[in-house]
Amino acid sequence: MKRYAFDEIVSHLKNTGYVYQGSEIYGGLSNSWDFGILGSYLKKNIKDLWWREFIEKNPNNVGIDSAILMNPKTWEATGHLKGFSDSMVDCKECKSRYRADQLIEEATGISADGKTPEEMDEMIENHNIVCPKCGKHNFTNARPFNLMFKTYIGTLEDAKSVVYLRPETCQGIFVNFNNVLRTSRKKIPFGIGQIGKSFRNEITPGNFIFRVREFEQMELEFFCEPGEDLKWFEYWVDACYNFIKRMGVKEENLRVRAHDQKELSFYSKATSDIEYAFPFTDWGEVWGIADRTDYDLKRHSEYSKVNLNYRDPNTNEVYTPYCVEPSVGVERLFLMIVCDAYDKETLENGEERVVMHLHPAVAPVKACICPLVKKLTPNAREIFDDLINEFHVEFDEAGTVGKRYRRNDAIGTPYCITYDFDSLEDNAVTVRDRDTMVQERVKIADLKDYLKKKIEF
Ligand code: ATP
Repeated sequence: MKRYAFDEIVSHLKNTGYVYQGSEIYGGLSNSWDFGILGSYLKKNIKDLWWREFIEKNPNNVGIDSAILMNPKTWEATGHLKGFSDSMVDCKECKSRYRADQLIEEATGISADGKTPEEMDEMIENHNIVCPKCGKHNFTNARPFNLMFKTYIGTLEDAKSVVYLRPETCQGIFVNFNNVLRTSRKKIPFGIGQIGKSFRNEITPGNFIFRVREFEQMELEFFCEPGEDLKWFEYWVDACYNFIKRMGVKEENLRVRAHDQKELSFYSKATSDIEYAFPFTDWGEVWGIADRTDYDLKRHSEYSKVNLNYRDPNTNEVYTPYCVEPSVGVERLFLMIVCDAYDKETLENGEERVVMHLHPAVAPVKACICPLVKKLTPNAREIFDDLINEFHVEFDEAGTVGKRYRRNDAIGTPYCITYDFDSLEDNAVTVRDRDTMVQERVKIADLKDYLKKKIEF
């Protein structure tokens, strides 16, 4: 299997307009990225597919769209105000900042998960860990750093007006549990999903869009009867894995890793991560699936004093539902998809082509309509005008047809449709497949159905 350098993939994404540096004209903002013309389509397609598969097509599930700013009591209930912190250390020599657990793990291979800041200081001392940047051993003490972004609501910047940008979307679901029950006819088991921005003031963001401070999450909270939770946990691990597989990601680059007892959150009965072999690391988390038991609903009940129990309409039994959560970041899926799709091939004539083997359902541009020569533009335009009603297609009349194919291969357009002089006679066009480069003649009248079948997820 070919592996490409991460830098090469990143520079391809920047050059083709998938991703731009954030605030570039002002010198950028560290680790912030904007999604460009193609990137915004890829993101939208990923989100649309998730929504379609996890919400619309699943008879158990519904979707909501909750606010980013929430009553700060939410974060007391969840423990984020107290516990949502990583320990950080600064190098006194070169001022580089590190997450203490990562610094220790990278230097020694020993996990520092769950260690107190004092224990981490001791580990840094005992192993004589040095700064990866300047090579000196001169760190500040480890201190906890809350990952939530703080801001103020209204005109007064005082303690009473403090609010936080949500660090995860799921809490907007838990606090609406009763509202969804009241306004839907859902019965347990059922799920509530949403897509939205989350914010974490990560100490060490990086690896391009893998770890950022502002990202989008797609989360589903699936509520079930206690005792049924592990069955649903397995169900959702499989569903998420299959979703990735159907998007065309190669299985040899995927694995499901179950958390062992030590790694599990104290409220979780089972957690598994779907991981991808990113070019910059052995395995990186893409999707986390967790059995969160009844922890969230119970905590919100306790802090809000609102009853979040469920009454079974058949048995009248009252209980707090258990919850299984598949949680994924859109940027992580994006990065996995493009790393997996990126490829370089040498053609028979010795020319090199860069190609992104994106699944047609996620590809930003579904087809490019190319008149063979400019004289045929009005005829080819008619095809474009018709197809654009159904798909995101583009029109390209610049340069030789060969050049236009290369351009579209590089951005992952699955089909190029050429209108030539024969088209005037046979009312057909040549459709060229990006991956096989095989060309076939298709009647213009059949084009829409032809593409629909090919693009289907
Ligand atoms: P980590 O341990 O890597 O910080 P986490 O286990 O805290 O991550 P979760 O809270 O489980 O992550 O978040 C669920 C999903 O949200 C992750 O699987 C990932 O896809 C995405 N995600 C989390 N943090 C970030 C981030 N900083 N940038 C991009 N995506 C993120």
